Amino acid sequence: MPQGAGRLHLHPRLTAPGAPLKSPRMALREIIILPDKRLRQVSEPVQRITADLRALVEDMFETMYKAPGVGLAAIQVGVPQRVVTVDTAKKDEPQNPQAFINPEIVWSSEEKGTYEEGCLSIPEYYEEVERPAQVKVRYMDLDGKTQEVAANGLLATVLQHEIDHTNGILFIDHISRLKRDRVIKKFTKAAKREAE
Ligand SMILES: [Zn+2]
Repeated sequence: MPQGAGRLHLHPRLTAPGAPLKSPRMALREIIILPDKRLRQVSEPVQRITADLRALVEDMFETMYKAPGVGLAAIQVGVPQRVVTVDTAKKDEPQNPQAFINPEIVWSSEEKGTYEEGCLSIPEYYEEVERPAQVKVRYMDLDGKTQEVAANGLLATVLQHEIDHTNGILFIDHISRLKRDRVIKKFTKAAKREAE
């Protein structure tokens, strides 16, 4: 999800070739864009925490902060694994990077909340989405330990949005069919133009 949904954002771009990265191990990854079919793929659970997995998570944070975004799912960088990175800290707050491996919603509130959502894979498109206002999410941390978090507000929305990605679901699936068809058409046309 992009940072500060509702405001205009530049199209996420990669660092120019040869530009220095923050750390030699970290790398920006390309964010795939609608209508890329991989966005509809259901991601596989992570079996165990490996060096590759840690490198993926580092790259995802780097990519998410650069975009900038508050949440990213691995499939958005083309990796079909159930991995999500989130940072909902406000601009004047210190960074709060959180990684969720195999996240699943184990409880959602009856109470609903509405946020204007956006998605780094659907740049510059924002729409209000209603979701449960509170959720409990079970996940594995980077030490391989099972954890549970109770989330509300923006974090609850971001977690639901990103967990949807691990199941091949996009936030536009939660809006009216008319609006969804319109945005898919727009991005499909843009992809065709770029391919020409
Ligand atoms: Zn998204």
